[in-house]
Amino acid sequence: MSLLKLAMDKILPRNCLICGKDPDADGRIPYPVPEDFHICFSCLSRLVPQPPDKRFFLCLSEPYEGDPYPGLGLYMPFPYKGFFESAVPRMKFHSCPELARFSGMLLGTYMAKDNVGSSLIVPVPLSDKRLKERGYNQAALIAQEASKICNIPYSPDVLIRTRDTQRQTELSADMVRSMNVEGAFKVSPSFDVTGIKVIVVDDVATTGFTLHEAALELYKAGASEVFCCAVCGNRAVLNAESF
Ligand SMILES: [Zn+2]
Repeated sequence: MSLLKLAMDKILPRNCLICGKDPDADGRIPYPVPEDFHICFSCLSRLVPQPPDKRFFLCLSEPYEGDPYPGLGLYMPFPYKGFFESAVPRMKFHSCPELARFSGMLLGTYMAKDNVGSSLIVPVPLSDKRLKERGYNQAALIAQEASKICNIPYSPDVLIRTRDTQRQTELSADMVRSMNVEGAFKVSPSFDVTGIKVIVVDDVATTGFTLHEAALELYKAGASEVFCCAVCGNRAVLNAESF
């Protein structure tokens, strides 16, 4: 840690990134949280992974007939509740890229533990408009951190968003959600993914349409295999997040 950072930590309170309380008030727990990530005991105690046999899903929560890749898989090690019910809105709307990076480290750690591998990791891209509003693409930060831990090459520019879409959770029916993301991505002509296995990463998976659409484009561009990863999501009930 730099001297400047040490000095800043003395001057500025290091409040918990999630709840805003003093992270040391309840004492630290032996969880591998790097020093930059100030997260209190109470918030960390709500960070509970899915049991090992409940981390692999079909990408689409509602598979449809005629899907060219009906077996498309999704790895999702955490439920969208507890820690992530608070963390996801914070990383999306409260300018908290540290939480996206921390989520990426968690995803990478679990991917490595569960032998989820590939030759390339790419994030679901954000539209230029939303990137400007938010200042960062949380899926890109998550994918980048996960790639470091898993030792898999990462590229944020392979998938391009061709148009802005409405937020999926603003749309109710599955059919409308599916049409909302249809044709929203393409593979950049600067990259050749022919014959390689690619993992596409997002923060949350709800219906899985967004990841599914991104995966189809990678297949169309010649990828030999595509697998989806999201940090968190619920499959039994729809997520309650307001984004
Ligand atoms: Zn907290």
